[in-house]
Formats: sequence, structure tokens, C-alpha cells
Amino acid sequence: MDYLDLAKVYEQLESTTKRIEKTKIIADFLKECPPKEIEKVVLLLQGLVFPKYEDKKIGIASKLVVKALNTATGIPADEIERNWKKTGDLGETAHDIVKRKRQHTLFSSDLTCDKVYATIRKLADIEGTGSTDLKLKMIAELLTSAKSSEAKYITRLLLEDLRIGLGEGTLRDAIAWGYYEKMNSVNIAAENESIFFGKDTELAKIRDKIQEAYDITNDYAEIAKIVFAQGLEKLGELELDPLKPVKVMLAQKVKNTAEAFERVGKPAALEYKYDGFRMLIGKQGESITIHTRRLENVTAQFPEVAKLVKANVHCHSCIIDGEAVGYDPQTKKYVPFQNISQRIKRKYDIEEVAKDVPVELNIFDILYYDGKSTINVPFNERRKIIEKIITTKAFHINLAVQITTDDEKKANAFYQQSLNAGNEGIMFKTLTAPYKPGSRVGYMIKMKPVMETLDLVIVGGEWGEGKRSGWISSFVLAVYDPDTDEFLEIGKFGTGVKEKSEEGTSFDELTTLLKPHIKNEKGREIIIKPHVVVEIAFEEIQKSPSYSSGYALRFPRLVRVRDDRKPDSCSTLGQVEDMYREQ
Ligand code: AMP
Repeated sequence: MDYLDLAKVYEQLESTTKRIEKTKIIADFLKECPPKEIEKVVLLLQGLVFPKYEDKKIGIASKLVVKALNTATGIPADEIERNWKKTGDLGETAHDIVKRKRQHTLFSSDLTCDKVYATIRKLADIEGTGSTDLKLKMIAELLTSAKSSEAKYITRLLLEDLRIGLGEGTLRDAIAWGYYEKMNSVNIAAENESIFFGKDTELAKIRDKIQEAYDITNDYAEIAKIVFAQGLEKLGELELDPLKPVKVMLAQKVKNTAEAFERVGKPAALEYKYDGFRMLIGKQGESITIHTRRLENVTAQFPEVAKLVKANVHCHSCIIDGEAVGYDPQTKKYVPFQNISQRIKRKYDIEEVAKDVPVELNIFDILYYDGKSTINVPFNERRKIIEKIITTKAFHINLAVQITTDDEKKANAFYQQSLNAGNEGIMFKTLTAPYKPGSRVGYMIKMKPVMETLDLVIVGGEWGEGKRSGWISSFVLAVYDPDTDEFLEIGKFGTGVKEKSEEGTSFDELTTLLKPHIKNEKGREIIIKPHVVVEIAFEEIQKSPSYSSGYALRFPRLVRVRDDRKPDSCSTLGQVEDMYREQ
């Protein structure tokens, strides 16, 4: 397929903000797409050349793209930079620059999706001496063959910032819709979508099957390939792979035990809520993989965990779910999440930090056991499996402390007991419930004493003055809208950030984290690409016309940087609306 066809789809997607129109555009495109190209095309639609779970970066700097544009068009780099300052988007600039050039020359060749995809995948693997020159040559070659709209999206793809506003839910619905139309040889107008996606319709059932498959594989490209080439039924044959990441089940929140029992039913399993970070550990014979809830592969960072699991989890294959909590090896006291979060990204001296900040595993669930998925096994049965196969070892590997009760008094006492032991609160779990990867379905409820918090993304800020000059001193917060794939502003904060890093997260640290993502600056004001997620505490949510989300936070203050969360898994507009209503 010509890359130009895909570029046209990107353009159409960019020209509307309506989710339903976007869905229809993609549905129409997919149903015409040759099945053998679908996998690639669906990745490219998401601005990817590797499935998300591979956690592989393309890693091309903007400067290199400017140089490549210069090589491809002969237009001087400073002129390109000037245009870029004006547009604020190098993709837009590539479009302008190539268009200007093309008025005078003929194209050398037609670009195919294959060519773009293969070249960019190759770029990610080039390392060592001379690699920059080789990358420059390859990018320039792509851009030389590109028409202006192609240049725009190739540039954005290279910079891993496609900006076509395509959320995961839209892609899922589009695969369902395209498949339905193709199978039934019909064409549903966008306006009629609600009829077809209504409860219990055939289309809604297809969508749910696709979602289920996605929860297992995390890969719409693979799913679309199976659906369009082999049919929907084949999705049922997809199995969990113990060594690949799975989305974890998420918890809903309640204020008291009465509300918790109401949601999960009586009796329920109650567990300590440990304050560390989620670890999903896969075992297949002697191979172990460890993933975070963001699906990052952290196997290399936690060699001691891999050893522990090999020695103490007795099965041939499994996927276990738990919380890793750091502790001080001298005092044996739990340490705050920040202290272990540094281990997640650590690339060197791994064994030493493992000694300084060891982690204790608290296992609470199992998704796969000896060749079979256990996600549809009731929770109390899954617990029995982990009790059977895990040898516990204090400060190394434990099962989450658990009681089963239907009594509010006992639940409250257990809550106090958990807090006294240094934990965050407790969890309530439905005894008979399946494990729902990626969902916040209410089979798992958390109760903790802190005031309300949201996980928000920093999208802007202001440079400080006086003793804070050189630091970003005020930060603009945004919430994610999965329907439009947009980040909507919801407030500003400066409170909670410390002057010195020993006291907590400092201005200096936040500035260092944010600097590489600065998109634009005007005077003291800066616009920042959504990358850094922070947990923000606040007093209240108010309606507000001043922010694009329509809401504002009263007295927001920083609790911590959530480097375990990606921007698109931060709090959603829907959650903010729910919280507002609950107040
Ligand atoms: P939150 O991060 O506030 O949404 O709370 C949910 C998180 O609590 C989960 O994602 C786990 O990382 C963590 N957690 C700690 N203890 C447990 C437990 N016993 N069961 C389930 N999740 C737990």
C-alpha cells in the first residue's frame, strides 16, 4: 500500500475531533486494507513501529530530522528552524518545506507503508560509531521520496508524537465496525452508530470480544490481523503468554467499609494494601520476566526477584501479580515509594542498589498456572493456588495478609491493623470474581485514609524568578480524555514541591524531568509535551471555564512523581466528572 493512502487517513483523522467520525474513517480504511498489510498499518495508525509492550524507542532527536530535511530539500537548516519556531510542530514544518521544494522538482519514487515501516524499525536498532550519519542518510532518503503530507507524518512518527488524536477505544471500535461492515456487506453511516453499538447488539458483542483479546495481548495490530484475515472466532484462541506483559486489574475506591461491602458483596476477602509498586511476574520453565503496570519490562532491574521466584514459586509456568515494597535493610522498616522508584529505571550498579533498597514481594493473585489461564477462575480459588505453590520467606516473598469476613467491625479493625503495620490501607475483593485485565470493574476495591488525589500530567509551566530562577516553579496540570486522546487542563500547582531534594521532590528534580519535553517557550511561559505524571492532592473539584477540562482543583499540591504511570494511563476526565458528582 502506498504511504500516501495512509497519510490521507491521518489528515482526515486530524480534521475532526468527533470520535464517531474518527471511528468511521478507520473502519472504512481497515475494511479495504489488504489483510497482509493490516498489522503494519494498525501500528502506524497508532504512531508506532513496535508493539507498545516491546517498550522499544525509535529515539530520533528533532535536530537530526532538521538536518535530514535540509539534506532532502537543500533548504538551509536555519530557515527550517525558523519555520519550526513559527509552527511549533516539526511535522507541519516538514510539510511546508517539502511542499516548497516539490514545486520545482519531480518525485524520485512512490513511498510504500512497507518502506516507511521497515526503515524506521531499522533506525531504532542502529548503534555505535557512525550511527548518526547512517541514520541521517536513511531519514533523508525517506524524506526525499516523500510528498509534503507524507513528510509531515513521517516526521511526527520519527519523533513519536503523531498527534492525530486516536485513542485506544476508538481503534477498538473501528476494528469492530470495519469487520462488521465487511462481513455483512453493509455501510453504516456515522450518525447511526449508536443504534449498532447499543447494548447487546451484534456490533457491541464484536467490540467486547476485541476488548477481551486486547486485555490479553495488548496489541491491536495483532488483533486486527487475526480478525480481518481469519475471522473473529480465532480471537478466542489467543492465550496469555507467561513472558509477555498483561494489563493488571485495577481498583475502585471507597470511603468506608459499608460502601466497600456493598460493591464487592459479602463475605469478601480483605487484604493489606501495600505501598510499593505493582509487579507482574511471568515464569516459563527457567525464564522469568517482570513487568510494571505500565507494561515496562524491568526484569534486568530486579535480578533478586527473578531468583526468588525461581526458588519459591513451584510450578512450570505462571503469571503472578503482586506489590513490591522497599524496606530499609538495617531497620527493616518499609520505605516510601520514591526510594524504590529509582530502581525501575536503573541501568548500572543494579546489584548494589538491590542491596541498598531491597524489595519484599507481596503476592495477591495469579493469572496463569501451568499452561492454562486462570483469569476466569474465581478469586478464592486463585488464592488457593498461590497458597499451594508459593513458599513464603519473610522480607522476600509473602502472600498478601488476608482475612475473609462479612462484618464491618472486623473490617474496620483489620483496616487499623494494616495502617499500624505501615501500609496504605486495605483492599476488598469479591470472592467469586474473575480477574479482569486492564479493568476497574469493581471486583477489587481500595480504602485508604488520605484525601482525594488524582494522577495528572504536567503540560506546561512557568520559569521561576529570584532564588528559583533556572527552575520551573509553577506547573500546569492536565487530565486525559481517552475519547479524544487529548490532555485537558485542570489547574496549576507549585505547592508541595520542595526547595531541597532531601525533603522530597524538589523544583530542581521536576525541572530536570520536564526539560527534555519542553515544546515551546514564550517569555517565562512554557508548553510541555505530556510525559511526566504526578499524583496531586486537593481539597475539592470545582467547575471552571478557565480550564479546557471544564474543571479546576482547589488547593492542589504535589504528593509524588508517578514514574510508574504513562500519560495515557493517568486519571481520566470521566473519573474527574465522577468525583465531582460524588462531592
Ligand atoms: P492505587 O494505586 O491507589 O490505584 O491502588 C491500587 C494499587 O494498590 C494496585 O495497583 C496495587 O499496586 C496496590 N496494592 C497493594 N496491595 C494490594 C493488594 N493486596 N491487592 C491488590 N492491589 C494491591
